[in-house]
Amino acid sequence: MADHAIASGLSRLLTSSWDEGLAETLSPQDLLVYRSNLLGADKRITNFGGGNTSSKLGMPDPLTGAPVEVMWVKGSGGDLGSIRLDGFATLDMARFRSVRQAYAGPDMEDDVVALYPHCTFGLNPRAASIDTPLHGLIDYPHVDHVHPDAIIAIAASVDGEAITREIFGDEIGWLPWRRPGFELGLMLERFVRDNPGARGVILGSHGLFTWAHTQRGCYETTVEVINRAITWLAEHEAGKPAFGGPAVEMLAPKQRRATAARLMPILRGLVSEGRAKVGHFDDQAAVLDFVCSRDLAALAPLGTSCPDHFLRTKIRPLVLEIDASRLDGEDLLPTLRQAIAAYRADYLGYYERCRRPDSPPVRDTNPVVILVPGVGMFTFAADKATARIAGEFYVNAINVMRGASAASTYAGLPEQEAFDIEYWLLEEAKLQRLPKGKPLEGRIALVTGGAGGIGLATARRLLGEGACVVICDIDRSALREAETALVKSHGRDRVAAVPVDVTDERTVITLFGEAALAFGGLDILVSNAGIASAAPLEDTSLELWQRNIDILATGYFLVSREAFRLMKAQARGGSIVFIASKNALVASPNASAYCTAKAAEIQLARCLALEGAPHGIRANVVNPDAVLRGSRIWEGEWRAQRAGAYNVAPDDLDEVYRQRSMLKLNVFPEDIAEAVYFFASDLSAKSTGNILNVDAGHAPAFTR
Ligand code: NAD
Repeated sequence: MADHAIASGLSRLLTSSWDEGLAETLSPQDLLVYRSNLLGADKRITNFGGGNTSSKLGMPDPLTGAPVEVMWVKGSGGDLGSIRLDGFATLDMARFRSVRQAYAGPDMEDDVVALYPHCTFGLNPRAASIDTPLHGLIDYPHVDHVHPDAIIAIAASVDGEAITREIFGDEIGWLPWRRPGFELGLMLERFVRDNPGARGVILGSHGLFTWAHTQRGCYETTVEVINRAITWLAEHEAGKPAFGGPAVEMLAPKQRRATAARLMPILRGLVSEGRAKVGHFDDQAAVLDFVCSRDLAALAPLGTSCPDHFLRTKIRPLVLEIDASRLDGEDLLPTLRQAIAAYRADYLGYYERCRRPDSPPVRDTNPVVILVPGVGMFTFAADKATARIAGEFYVNAINVMRGASAASTYAGLPEQEAFDIEYWLLEEAKLQRLPKGKPLEGRIALVTGGAGGIGLATARRLLGEGACVVICDIDRSALREAETALVKSHGRDRVAAVPVDVTDERTVITLFGEAALAFGGLDILVSNAGIASAAPLEDTSLELWQRNIDILATGYFLVSREAFRLMKAQARGGSIVFIASKNALVASPNASAYCTAKAAEIQLARCLALEGAPHGIRANVVNPDAVLRGSRIWEGEWRAQRAGAYNVAPDDLDEVYRQRSMLKLNVFPEDIAEAVYFFASDLSAKSTGNILNVDAGHAPAFTR
């Protein structure tokens, strides 16, 4: 078990990163961006997307040039760590102060939100967030609001107010929990007025506000206050085992990952009911300390405290009380199904208990966070980034529970308060405004030969439609290059690369385990890794014959068998697409090994279609022909051979194939990728056992 305070992430002190030399060169607005980025750069100061900053600055009116007091305050959405100036809303303070006249009390708190756009200074389209009044009503030019784990640990302790007084005296005050909005803004205003010596305030179950006359002063107050909380908590944690000490032995790393890879697809299948989800697995020390601990059973049901946390994680996680290492596949599914069903029923109970007459309808009842003693934490969401971030937020919640329960007694937010935030009409409106997901959002694809011409184009096409993609290839350097390019265009979260030789059973099995861990499972397999070879029959060596059979027939068998197993475990169907060849249908002279192996692929796809149909697993074939651009098959010797056969220069081959086609067109990797997308997506939901030729027309390849 890792050392208590280190693993909690609460013991390392922050250092001020303020660079006065740089700060002196910045305009007041850019200084606000600088200060915000410094705060957001350290997750111990604030969680992803959490917290906000503001500065009230003098600006000239664009029409008259007259001075106007303008509040620059982080707008709705975005993250402090990466915010730019366009992430801030701008409000004319004179107009903002008049909102008070329209405010008639807590019952109309949500209504005043619609008035903020009327206070906009300039033509700034950035919407003001619901935290705007918390900044606007504090009578200081610069205000920071952050969610540090160390502060929330105090804010979520039953005696948080007394602890705050003990650590900070009159410097930092305490306000009890209240949902963010105009009323909380008024409470802050009163506090600042009544406590002129205070430099900040801790909000119960929520976070920290600090203020100052200068930007540097505000930033350094935030850092100093967090450090004092960290120091105090470390002193109180010292010598105590985390979460009451271990109750369950953690599995060794290799066994943990193997168990997680086994659990992932089953869990993903169950929680994807209604909508495909992507998974994320985390077994860092802070997580393992919690999931293996004695206090897990008592703490997890109390739920997370900070609203930022549970909006991402749901109020409570699902704790799987199983010995995952001992269950075999047969027992696992019913056990997990039962646990998920119980969670859903529990969540429905919470909704029914807390709903108000105008509450939005119940949302997805499945767990977001699943904790497995001895193994780690699984999180699920509609896309990978959201699943990963939900996991990060739950780690924040773990740190909070650890600090609070070491120093005092942890208290979650009362259920009704949590519900009112989760089903807040303003939150619902935000959800309704979210753009509709792309067709493959939540789906996971694996492309073999993903570093090659057709494979890479296919990976790009599927990523473009929202899928997460695992590319694999035997050529490690080409694979790295392809990965770098895809990460650049589509982000780290949705791309994984695994080196593999599709002819090697062991590495293929490992590949699917890695895929299950990377994203949670598999929905789409594109079996594409291949080679080309040519030789007259008499000159075809057994070695050449075997190489074609190994890569094109056995390789396709091995990857589709593992994909089939994984898809069955998930129990949510799937699509298998084989990239075969025109030569699978039409024999060509001097290519017996290649043509025979490619024909085997088609027959294997038909077998998969037959056996897969009862499980909703479809299998279809795309037959390319003469895809020269981007294909590495067509580099070097093969191109020279083909050019020789047609008696033309290698560079003239494109023209030869164009003229040979019925439509007089060349075929490109993107054309093959388009056909793959059709079979991979629901566009072809009612097609299995089919063949689609993408060859610009070749009469001998007409299927019949
Ligand atoms: P490519 O050479 O650009 O890509 C194939 C990829 O498969 C390469 O990156 C290669 O490293 C990888 N690979 C080879 N052996 C492997 C193994 N044992 N394990 C893992 N990866 C391996 O070629 P391409 O044109 O993109 O071909 C893709 C598929 O399309 C192949 O199956 C090929 O037979 C088929 N095809 C291509 C054409 C064409 O004209 N390009 C025509 C018909 C069929």
